Formats: sequence, structure tokens, C-alpha cells
Amino acid sequence: MASEDELLDLVRMRNYRQVAIELIALEAGRDVFDIEALREDPEGALGGNDEITVEYDMSPRDGCSVFGYYRHVPAGQSMIFVHPSLTSERDRFTILHELGHHVQRQHLGWANVRHSLPSEIGAQLEERVADAFAAEVLIPASTVPADATWLSARTLAEVYTTVRASRAAVAMRAIEIAPEGEQATVIVTDHRGMVTFARASGDEVFAPARGRIQPGIAKMIESAFERGGSAIGPLDRGLEARSGWAQQDLQVEVALDDTWGYAFVVVRSAQRFGRKPTWDRIDDAECGNEACGTVFTVNEAVTICPACEVPKCPECGRCACEPKTSPVCDRCWLELTPAEQADPALHECP
Ligand SMILES: [Zn+2]
Ligand SMILES: [Zn+2]
Ligand SMILES: [Zn+2]
Ligand SMILES: [Zn+2]
Repeated sequence: MASEDELLDLVRMRNYRQVAIELIALEAGRDVFDIEALREDPEGALGGNDEITVEYDMSPRDGCSVFGYYRHVPAGQSMIFVHPSLTSERDRFTILHELGHHVQRQHLGWANVRHSLPSEIGAQLEERVADAFAAEVLIPASTVPADATWLSARTLAEVYTTVRASRAAVAMRAIEIAPEGEQATVIVTDHRGMVTFARASGDEVFAPARGRIQPGIAKMIESAFERGGSAIGPLDRGLEARSGWAQQDLQVEVALDDTWGYAFVVVRSAQRFGRKPTWDRIDDAECGNEACGTVFTVNEAVTICPACEVPKCPECGRCACEPKTSPVCDRCWLELTPAEQADPALHECP
């Protein structure tokens, strides 16, 4: 079992998934919840449990997420409240997220780590770990054999039929579990090719905005309809960004889900054919950083930010995202001043 120091290291590395795996292992030893049964039917699995009860709450939404909240009752039965959503998948995730709050209170080592942090950071951390716990229970890494990749549209469509989680949760898991350095973007679209979820692994292929129809993906979805549910090939017309550029030289794999109403899509660069992705509207851009203002040509040497879809300035590295905040002290989590960054001895924890 991980020590408190090891848990703190996981927090520093933002490896919430590994924290969740540790908590699930501890839960197995405690033997209060049946993780397998939770995977199948969270609400049913918690029925008759002495530690916790699930209630549906029809009142206006408050609590830690818009979907539900957790109320700890010391020396009594704690409560999970769920604001029912339109999908049972959403409700299952909510129940397990709230159970994730409960589980985090049951393990002294983790509780010590979480409460050693300033309250706002600790609260944020608890939310992240609650999400990771829910995802880990609903979609265990073992759903896909260890020697196969999650970054495959057909694999994701198969996973979706076997787990009780939303398409977005399945796509998100693919990004979390894929080894670092594997470059691909995972997208969920409806049958028209309208993006409902997109997340990039690596920065080779950007993640297109939600709510926009991608014509190239729409075309490949039509092929999938004709070919029994999946299709693969070059991405015609590229992947279109809000900024008006389209990333080219991409390969797309599409697999319809079991309803044929939605598709899992994996886009990667076609570099296996010896090409690097390019952008088809070679244009000048001006850096938005008022301290920089460099005018540069957008070509294959420039990275497009996967989050804001704006080319990153080659001079200062800025896109349209908020710049990263300063590094923080390992012990007190306060931001370090530039002087303290240069000479850590200058920093004194409060
Ligand atoms: Zn929460
Ligand atoms: Zn710049
Ligand atoms: Zn950005
Ligand atoms: Zn400090």
C-alpha cells in the first residue's frame, strides 16, 4: 500500500488515477463495498449498506457538482444525493463520484495527505480524485487487454458496449490510459459528424471544438454506415479549427456505437506515410501577448494549441490560453516569487 509520501508524490504528479487505484485496493481490504457490483449497478450495490445511502433530490441544484452531493454523517449513515439527469449513465457516474468522497474519508493515510493541503487546493483535489474513482470503477483499465491500444475507434465502440458509462467518459479514459507520447485525438460525434467531445493525447493533432460539424469526419461516417459500422482512411478536407485553419495530412478511423447514432473517432497524423501534419491556410499571425507581439508565419513548424486552437507564438510560446501560473512550494503550496524560484533558500513557509 502506498505511504503518505508516495501519495503526496502522486498528487504532485497529478496522477489522480493512481490515487483512485490505491483507494480501490484499500476498499477491497475493508470489504464494505463490492466493487464489481458497483460497476454493474451502483445504486443497487449500495442498497442495504449500513455506511451510506442514496437518495434522489429534486430540489434546486447545489453541492460539489451540478449532478449531486455527499453528506458525511459521523457515526451514522452518510448520504449521497443525486439530482436525476436524463441519462442513467450520468446518474451512475454521479453516485460513484459521491461515493468517491466517502471512500476518501475512510483511509487515514489519504485523508492526512488531503487535509495537509490548503483548504481550497484540498477540496479541488478531492473532486478530481472522486472523478478518477468513478471512472476507475466504471471503466477499469483491464477492459482493454494490456497489449492493445485504447486509441482505436473500434476498441472504444466495443468498450462502450461493455461498460455502463457515457461515451465521453469512455473517450476520456482512452486519453488517460494511453501511454504518454502516443499521439492521437479522440473525438465523439453524432451521426452527422458534429463533435460532442474531443481530447488530444499529445500535441500533434489538435482537439476540435464541440458543437461543430467536421465535414471530413461526416464523410467517413457515411462510409462506416456502408461498411458495417467502421471505416478508416485519409481525412478529407482535414480537421477544421475555429480559427479558419484546417489541419491536413491526417488519418481518421471511425466506429459507430451500438446505437449507430454516435461515432467514436480517432484522428492521428498520416506520418506513417512519411508526412507531418500541415495547416492548409498558410497565413501570418500576430502574437496576442502584449509583451511580445511577434508576427509569424503559420506553417508546420508552428504548434496549434489543442485547447484554444490558436497558433503558439514561436517567440514566447503563448497562445490564447491563460499563461501558466508560477511554480508553487512543495510544502505550503504558495506561489513562489521569481526571486524565490531562482534561490529556493529565500522562501519561508508561513
Ligand atoms: Zn464532488
Ligand atoms: Zn509571442
Ligand atoms: Zn491555448
Ligand atoms: Zn512553502
